[in-house]
Amino acid sequence: MNAAQARMKAVEILKKNPFVAAATPELDASILLSKILGVSRTMLLAHPEIGLTREQEKDFISQLEMRLQGTPIAYITQEKEFWGLRFKVTPAVLIPKPDTEILVERACGIVQSIRIAHPGAPIRVLDVCTGSGCIAIAVKRSCPYAEVSATDISGEALEIARENSRALVDDEVSFIQGDLRQGLPRIQGGWSLVVSNPPYVPSLVARSLLEDGRGEPLSALDGGSDGLDLVRALVPAALDVLAPNSRILIESGEYNASETARILKSSGFTDIVIHKDLENQDRVAEG
Ligand code: GLN
Repeated sequence: MNAAQARMKAVEILKKNPFVAAATPELDASILLSKILGVSRTMLLAHPEIGLTREQEKDFISQLEMRLQGTPIAYITQEKEFWGLRFKVTPAVLIPKPDTEILVERACGIVQSIRIAHPGAPIRVLDVCTGSGCIAIAVKRSCPYAEVSATDISGEALEIARENSRALVDDEVSFIQGDLRQGLPRIQGGWSLVVSNPPYVPSLVARSLLEDGRGEPLSALDGGSDGLDLVRALVPAALDVLAPNSRILIESGEYNASETARILKSSGFTDIVIHKDLENQDRVAEG
């Protein structure tokens, strides 16, 4: 079988899954094929005659079967691009989403303005519920002068985050395992910025999302009945460890971003803003 035939066959197979068919069978097939053949997608288009070995054909078919069950491409290839960086992902961590890039962008903006206002002073950023480490690592990569730490309740997630930190920022993010409901790490002088993409999906919605077989960790999505249980725990915990005049950024759903902003306000945060993501949806509350 050559690449063009494999791609056509794959699209035909993938269209059998209503979830996959509703999404992007052509793209899925090209990503899997290019990874298996070890060539870029552009190269694949230019050279549809490239042949697959028996072994590669077998791998391709078994990956298509996984995709057919709903496994996301990122879990099959074990990688996902975020902030222009390639992160390792496994089902122990949520797959980084482009929605979250606005949080990184805003975090970098805050870090840069602290640097301008207080040249030479340490800037310390804490990422809570780090998962794959994508936010912490992206911030460290763009603002290497910031000291970045990250926490997660899951030891398995932290293993992946550490691998990503080694590969992408020379292991320069420090990780601490912990449950935010028991409080956040305290440092002398307090954190300059706390950022978080906590689980924020209402329980019922989280469960139904996972029915498509995506296999993302329920614990990374399920935020209780209205999705905001962790946000309600995070906000006072952050207040306890933040420096004076510091900032907080919390990702939430387009459906609960204004409630997140309200929680920030009622806990004493000021200058509250809701940032929209690239799809123009309310995504990140800042205070
Ligand atoms: N919509 C987000 C996702 O699917 C939800 C992430 C979260 O709960 N933090 O990745």
